[in-house]
Amino acid sequence: MKTSFTPITFAIGLVSFALVVSPSAIAQTSTDTTAKKTPAVQTAESQAALTPTSALEKLKKGNARFVEKTMRTRDWQAKVPATAAGQYPFAAILACMDSRNPIEIIFDQGIGDVFGIRIAGNIVNEDELGSMEYATKVVGVKLLVVLGHTSCGAVKGAIDDAKLGNLTALLAKIRPAVSASGPGSSKDEAYVTKVAQANVSQAMNEIREKSPTIKEQLDAGTVGRVGAMYDVSTGKVTFLPD
Ligand SMILES: [Zn+2]
Repeated sequence: MKTSFTPITFAIGLVSFALVVSPSAIAQTSTDTTAKKTPAVQTAESQAALTPTSALEKLKKGNARFVEKTMRTRDWQAKVPATAAGQYPFAAILACMDSRNPIEIIFDQGIGDVFGIRIAGNIVNEDELGSMEYATKVVGVKLLVVLGHTSCGAVKGAIDDAKLGNLTALLAKIRPAVSASGPGSSKDEAYVTKVAQANVSQAMNEIREKSPTIKEQLDAGTVGRVGAMYDVSTGKVTFLPD
């Protein structure tokens, strides 16, 4: 079906038409009326309608789709212009830089859906905190996730107390999680996972303790915070109890 123009819109011309039609409307085909109920990209309205609980549910369902091989089919190129005018992501995920846990893929999310803050060992410093403060206070995400993973090289390096240039200072930030986990070896994957999980807990605490801005939003219930572990052998994300 061809799009009909009102006389006024038509008089404004095609250039203006591109400006008055929302990008998300362009991404949705005119033949699929049901698509209008589910935005092709996150919008201010869809973001505002979410809560920390429903945002977490979206990530849980997304990872389930990834594990069960039922990931959504996406028109990636259509999402580029649809998100060009602004972003309304619903979660910010602090994850390790590890190439095996690309967050948009393992949570089956598209362009504009989530903030990714990635650094070796998913450690927290003032730069990560500043990024999360921007994500929550300025952009309005509903959920902060700290995602550790099994077989983490940074965690293994911290266990071994490895020294290498600037990496030394980064690994030192994981050392408290090593101390909290008791003695063990980097060759013991179960122990590595235990330390990685302790490192997630440590980051969760630091987010609350070192950012009054985020603490205020957590206390108000407008933002949620959850720790999680990604299993590099199964693709499954396990969310940890608070
Ligand atoms: Zn890692």
